[in-house]
Amino acid sequence: ATIPEHFAAVARQFPTQEAVVSLPQQRRLTYSELTESIDLLARGLMGIGFAKGDRIGIWSTNNLEWLLLQMATARMGAILVNLNPAYRTRELAYALKRSEVQGLFTIPSFRSSDYISMLLELFPRLTEDSGEFKSEEFPHLQRIGLYDPAQPDQTLSPFPGFTTWPALLQAAEHISPEELDKMTASLDRDDPVNIQYTSGTTGFPKAVVLSHHNILNNAYFSALAMHFTAKDRLCIPVPFYHCFGMVLANLLCLSVGACAVIACEHFDPRLVLQAIEKERCTALHGVPTMFIAELEHPQFPNFDLSSLRTGIMAGAPCPPVLMKRVMGEMHCREILIGYGQTEASPLTHLTSREDSEERRTETVGTNLPHQEVKVIDPANGQTVPFGQVGEVCFRGYHVMDRYYGDPAATIKTIDSAGWLHSGDLGVMDKNGYLKITGRLKEMIIRGGKNIYPREIEEFIFTHPKVAQVAVFGVPDEYYGEEIVAWLQLRPGEHSTEEEIRHFCQGQIAHFKIPRYLRFVDTFPMTVTGKLQKFRMQEMEIQKRR
Ligand code: ATP
Repeated sequence: ATIPEHFAAVARQFPTQEAVVSLPQQRRLTYSELTESIDLLARGLMGIGFAKGDRIGIWSTNNLEWLLLQMATARMGAILVNLNPAYRTRELAYALKRSEVQGLFTIPSFRSSDYISMLLELFPRLTEDSGEFKSEEFPHLQRIGLYDPAQPDQTLSPFPGFTTWPALLQAAEHISPEELDKMTASLDRDDPVNIQYTSGTTGFPKAVVLSHHNILNNAYFSALAMHFTAKDRLCIPVPFYHCFGMVLANLLCLSVGACAVIACEHFDPRLVLQAIEKERCTALHGVPTMFIAELEHPQFPNFDLSSLRTGIMAGAPCPPVLMKRVMGEMHCREILIGYGQTEASPLTHLTSREDSEERRTETVGTNLPHQEVKVIDPANGQTVPFGQVGEVCFRGYHVMDRYYGDPAATIKTIDSAGWLHSGDLGVMDKNGYLKITGRLKEMIIRGGKNIYPREIEEFIFTHPKVAQVAVFGVPDEYYGEEIVAWLQLRPGEHSTEEEIRHFCQGQIAHFKIPRYLRFVDTFPMTVTGKLQKFRMQEMEIQKRR
C-alpha cells in the first residue's frame, strides 16, 4: 500500500482515538480530525500548483504542522525534503540546490524567528510583491510557504513573497476531495515520498531517496516488533527532520492507531520527562545522548514515569550500562535497541522483549522480517564466518532507491546484487544476533592493530564519574594513529587523566588505553544528538600542529 492508503484504513478504524498531541502548541487531534487537516492541506498544496513528484522542503523544528505536511505531501504524491532545522543560510542553500527543491516551508521556531532573516538574506526579493517567486540562483524554487506560530490565522504575510498557511488552506477550494482521491489512487507504492538527509556524523549529510514502500513497511514492522497498538502513546523527543522522528515516531504511531506526543520543539530533557508524566506515555524513543540527559537531569527523581513500557534507543552505540539504567531507573522494562541507517529506511535490526537481558543490552537484536543481512570482509567482499568482524550489508524492501543526484555515491553504496554496504562493522552469531563494533571509517589502526573505539568507550563509560565519552584516532608519526578519548564527567564530579588511565589498566589491553585524554563540558553534536567525532578529530589535529 501507499502511505495515504494505509493511513486511511487506520483512521477509519480509530476515528475518535487521539492521533497527535503537540505539547508546545497545546493542540490535540483525533484520527478523524487529523484526516480532515491532512486532506485540506493536501488540496491546498495542489490548489497553489504543486503536483505529483514535486519536491517540497520543510525547514523547521518539531511541531504539528511538520507532521501535517509529512502526511499531506504523501497524500498528494509530492516528495517531502527534510531540511535540518540547525542549517544556517549556506547549508540551507546547498541542500535546496542539491535536492532541487520546488517549494520550501518554514515554521519559525517558537523561541526564535531567525529563520525568516536567513531566508530574506538568501532571497532578498521575498520583500517584493512579485506574485510568483523567482530566483536565478535557485531555478527550481517556485514558492516559499510560512507557518507563523505567532500569527497562525494571518492571511497576509509582512513579506509578499511568502505564501501563508491560511492562504494555503484557502487554496483547497480549487481542488475537490474527489480530485485529491484521484491523485492518491494514481500513486504507486514505489513512488518516492521522501528525501531524507543523513545525520552528518561523519561529514556532509547525504540525500537519501525513500519510497512509500520503504518507510511505511519499516515503520509498521518496527511497530509490530514493539508490540505497539492503538493503546500506546509515544513520547517524541527525536527530530522529525531525521528518519528516527519521521518514520519510527510519526509514521510508526500512525501506522497502528497509536498517539504521537510531541514533547518539545528542540530536545529538552525536562520537557520530555514532563510529557511522559502528563500524557502517561507508554513509550519513549531517543539516541543514547538523550537518555543520558534525561537520567542525569537534576529533577529526574521527581517525575512519575511508571506508565513507560517500551521505546527504541538507536542511532549510535547504546552502552549496556545505559540500557540497564533505562530499564531500571526509568521503569522502561521493554526498551529495545534499534540499529539501522537512513539509507535503510532506517531500521534493519531491533531487539525484542523476549530476548535475554544479555542480548537486549549487548546486541542490536536480529533483523526485521523480509530483510536479508550478511557480514563481509570489506577487502574481498566474501561473507565471513559467524563470530567474525566484518562490514554489515543489507538487502530487501527497506533499501533506499538512491542518493539524490549522486549516481556515483549510489553505485558505491548499493552493489549490483542489491546489497547496501552500511560502512558499519559488526559480528553476527549463528542465531542471527548482531553486535555493532564500530564504523569502518572510525576504526583506529594503531601500530598495525585494529582498534574499535566502541569497545574502549563502553569500558570507560562504566566509570561511575563518567557521563559521556568519545574515542577516536588521530594521526601519529610512530604508530600511524593514536587513541584520543574525550570525556564529560557527571555533574559535580572531578577526575584526572591518571585516575582514568589507572581505571583502564589491567581491564583493557595496554595498547587500547587512550594516549590523550581530554575533559570537556560539551561535545560537537548533530541535531539528532550524535557525537561528531570528525569535528573532535579536526580540533585535536589542529591543536597538535
Ligand atoms: P552520515 O552518514 O551523514 O555521516 P550518520 O551515518 O550518522 O551520518 P544516520 O543514517 O543518521 O547517518 O545514522 C546511521 C548510523 O548510525 C549507522 O550507520 C551506525 O553507524 C550508527 N548507528 C545507528 N544505530 C546504532 C546502534 N544501535 N549501535 C551502533 N551504531 C548505530
